[in-house]
Amino acid sequence: MTPAHEHEQATTLHIDIFYPDHPPRTESALFRKTKHHLVHVLDTPCYVCDTKEHREVHHWHAEWADAEGIDWDKMRALHPAFDWSTFKEPSDFIDSEYNMKILCAKHHRGINHGIHMVPLPMWEMQRIQKADFVFTPDEEK
Ligand SMILES: [Zn+2]
Repeated sequence: MTPAHEHEQATTLHIDIFYPDHPPRTESALFRKTKHHLVHVLDTPCYVCDTKEHREVHHWHAEWADAEGIDWDKMRALHPAFDWSTFKEPSDFIDSEYNMKILCAKHHRGINHGIHMVPLPMWEMQRIQKADFVFTPDEEK
């Protein structure tokens, strides 16, 4: 049952962006190491909902597909906490633990929930919503 005064807003987003030219994607050794450490060693739960089901690794500050379009001087200025002494090529930052968030499949790629699908302010709401708040129609009971 929908609470009083709550309203639904349905929006259709058409996203049209360019990705810089890049070679075919492959998992780097660093990516595999980072994923293994965050999921299997540290047992990190989903950043949004704390589940440990269907965990995936999300590139947080920079996506691999954008590597060739990134101004790395700007990235250094924005992220002084990253250990730049380890940086020899873009994947050293992009596939590092510094650049990763663990998300469940729902909050990574899920329709109406995933960070790849929902604008950031809406996505962030899922982290702080009250337990009885219904975020999307698929959560109605
Ligand atoms: Zn989640």
